[in-house]
Amino acid sequence: MVTKSQSLSLEGFTFRESWEEKKKRAEKIVDLLIKTYPREKLLIGDPYRTLIHCIISQRMRDEVTYRVWEELFKRYRDIETIAATPIEEMQEFLRKQGVGLWKTKGEWIVKASQIILEKYGGKVPDDINELMKLPGIGRKCANIVLAYGFGKQAIPVDTHVNRISKRLGLAPPRVAPEKVEEYLVRLIPKEKWIYVNHAMVDHGRSICRPIRPKCDECPLRELCPYAKGLVTDDDIKGNGRRKG
Ligand code: SF4
Repeated sequence: MVTKSQSLSLEGFTFRESWEEKKKRAEKIVDLLIKTYPREKLLIGDPYRTLIHCIISQRMRDEVTYRVWEELFKRYRDIETIAATPIEEMQEFLRKQGVGLWKTKGEWIVKASQIILEKYGGKVPDDINELMKLPGIGRKCANIVLAYGFGKQAIPVDTHVNRISKRLGLAPPRVAPEKVEEYLVRLIPKEKWIYVNHAMVDHGRSICRPIRPKCDECPLRELCPYAKGLVTDDDIKGNGRRKG
């Protein structure tokens, strides 16, 4: 049966459940994830530093991103200094730190900082559409800034959230991450959005790994279509990568 909720179709991933049943299952999944990966208080950082972290992180490993991000703020301190830095100098700094796409990212970092200073008075906007106008900031980064920089309810869909949502049948297997976000925000109660990214990232690193997920050890297995063979990695292949 094909059911719709505000234009989102269940076609192709009903798993014999109605939209209401899927919502109930989604809530159970998120509650279990929060219980399994508790975080007393989510780290709500500085929006500007979160934004710069997100630009550096694109197609980079977490450990390298964190090291470069720390070095960058040791050397350049604040938004005024970064906005006044010649783009070539920033590019050279990133290149020496071993950052991929250093040319593009160097330009994004300096230009985004200049725009925030000039257009927004030095304060990062807390609006997704304004954030997405900044160089290097796609939907995922904008949501990361909202969730982790401002502490607002948002669901950044990164590679872990994309893969796990599809394995769990919370989004159709062949849609882009932007569409995954649309399904998640309609299936999950708003007060829990902010936990979804961090819990799925932890889950994706420890159990629901990209290759050979450890379904036997997974607390979600009873709720998971992948564990029952109803969705496979071949079904979802090729839909997890997007800029920013
Ligand atoms: S049961 Fe397997 S596929 Fe489903 S969430 Fe757990 S580890 Fe991932």
